[in-house]
Amino acid sequence: MDRKINFFDSRKRDEYKKTLSKNKFDVLVIGGGITGAGVCLDTTSRGLKTCLIDMNDFASGTSSKSTKLIHGGLRYLEQFKFKLVHETGSERAVLSKIAPHIVKPEKMLLPIKKEGKLNMFLTRIALMIYDYLANVKRTDKNKILSREDTFLKEPLLKKNNVLGGAYYSEYRTEDNRLTIEIIKKSYELGSSPINYMKAINFIYRDNKVIGVKCKDKIDGTILELYAQNIINASGSWTDEVLNDKEKKLVLSKGIHIVVSREKFNLSQSIYFDAIDGRMIFAIPREDKVYIGTTDTEFNKEKDKLIVLKKEVNYLLNSLNETFSVSLKLKHIESSWVGLRPLIKDGHKKVSEVSREDEVFISKEGIITITGGKLTGYRKMAERVVDLIFRKNNMPKRRSLTKNLKLFGNKHDKLRSEIMELGFSEEQFNKYYNNYGDKCFEIFKTLKKKSKLDDVNLLISEFAYCLKKEMCHNLLDFFSQRNSMIYYNIDKVLSLIQENRKELAEVSGISEKKWNEQLIDLKKYIDQITTFN
Ligand SMILES: Cc1cc2nc3c(=O)[nH]c(=O)nc-3n(C[C@H](O)[C@H](O)[C@H](O)COP(=O)(O)OP(=O)(O)OC[C@H]3O[C@@H](n4cnc5c(N)ncnc54)[C@H](O)[C@@H]3O)c2cc1C
Repeated sequence: MDRKINFFDSRKRDEYKKTLSKNKFDVLVIGGGITGAGVCLDTTSRGLKTCLIDMNDFASGTSSKSTKLIHGGLRYLEQFKFKLVHETGSERAVLSKIAPHIVKPEKMLLPIKKEGKLNMFLTRIALMIYDYLANVKRTDKNKILSREDTFLKEPLLKKNNVLGGAYYSEYRTEDNRLTIEIIKKSYELGSSPINYMKAINFIYRDNKVIGVKCKDKIDGTILELYAQNIINASGSWTDEVLNDKEKKLVLSKGIHIVVSREKFNLSQSIYFDAIDGRMIFAIPREDKVYIGTTDTEFNKEKDKLIVLKKEVNYLLNSLNETFSVSLKLKHIESSWVGLRPLIKDGHKKVSEVSREDEVFISKEGIITITGGKLTGYRKMAERVVDLIFRKNNMPKRRSLTKNLKLFGNKHDKLRSEIMELGFSEEQFNKYYNNYGDKCFEIFKTLKKKSKLDDVNLLISEFAYCLKKEMCHNLLDFFSQRNSMIYYNIDKVLSLIQENRKELAEVSGISEKKWNEQLIDLKKYIDQITTFN
């Protein structure tokens, strides 16, 4: 493939598709969530020619709807999953090294309540084991806090039955950005990812799978893609893609809500008892706080995945019981909802089903990898790619992803260059945290053109995403590219009203198509702000 052409430009799609159908790949990955992205980067960096397809935008499935923690999984200790705690815990250090702009340390407060799930003694023991298994650095080790110190950390906590607290280390991320950055890195190294390309059928020869028939969801055309190995990383769609009678997955629904810090001025991230004895998170993010999550079995059609009023009330009641606030439905600014793909385990309730990943190989040779966590994506990929090498009797090549840096490693130099262009530190931080060192291009393009204000910066960002991140529309942009639809919904609405002409001009599409995009965006806004 001609790598001089930038096929990550959404407007080069037709040309790109022609080159894809001419190639035969070593690996074809179905699914551009974190699992597929991880596999694609691992195969490509080990020298395998790889194509990745997603039926919607990259990261638009569960991989943009999580709690956004890269965590050692304290709750797995309860289930005695020591190996899982060790693996996910150790991965945090790796991910913050390879992607420091999107994986950042975050201190978590765990209040210990009189009738709570954990008492002081158990918490102390659990956190000691956790620190050991998760390879927590000496300086980051957990602390048990007195009652007074717990309230100093979080003054909003109600004083009635808190005995003390624990203060321990987690990492936070932007799940959508992590996924897209991994896909972009794999493209830079030679892979061929494409979004809005749905796998509709497998192609077989002598009862073995040799390719995938796909439908382009943008223009409706059909494409055949051929590969030696087909990896199914379609998350909660695994059963639909395999189309087997026997289902492999059980799906668990989880919601998050977003409120302004004006209404809930939380000082710090907190993991606390919900009204039913489960534990939930509240995490500040700039001038907002997001709260989640729920864990309930989901058996309906996936296009009926919406946030229900009773789920929101569960979170609100838990907040109002724990903090000195009185939050109501009207205070919720936005929400998101995702499905955990969990491996079916008899008749166990979803909350009891293991969160570990599993690999299945069908008799036709399709390799499915599913389950697992965002946190463990790199190790999941390593395992499945080792398997590809074994299955094809290829000489072993070790995974390189542990040391393969994504795009966030030039912070100081870049910061001074961008400030020299006339931008503020705040503007730099915002864009660096999303795009790593690639943010330079957004600033540079704007510098050449117009006033360096936030609105023009956003328009320059939109142009960048269309050209360099295979972003196809406003919804891709405001959700998977910069999450504004979740954390700054008012700004999204004012921007599309006041700067409609400029945005339409950048996108370069017909009036009719532009209006269709606006309708889709507004529909989604309705969906994440209405609760029935
Ligand atoms: C509420 C919630 C909170 C969570 N919090 C955390 C957390 O804090 N930390 C953590 O580590 N993990 C967390 N998880 C788990 C984690 O988010 C998931 O394990 C992970 O995102 C799953 O990624 P995936 O790539 O397997 O699936 P997905 O992200 O859903 O990706 C699958 C992709 O496959 C595509 N696809 C499906 N069918 C086809 C087809 N026919 N053709 C082409 N493409 C197709 C879809 O469009 C989709 O993009 C959470 C999960 C939930 C639901």
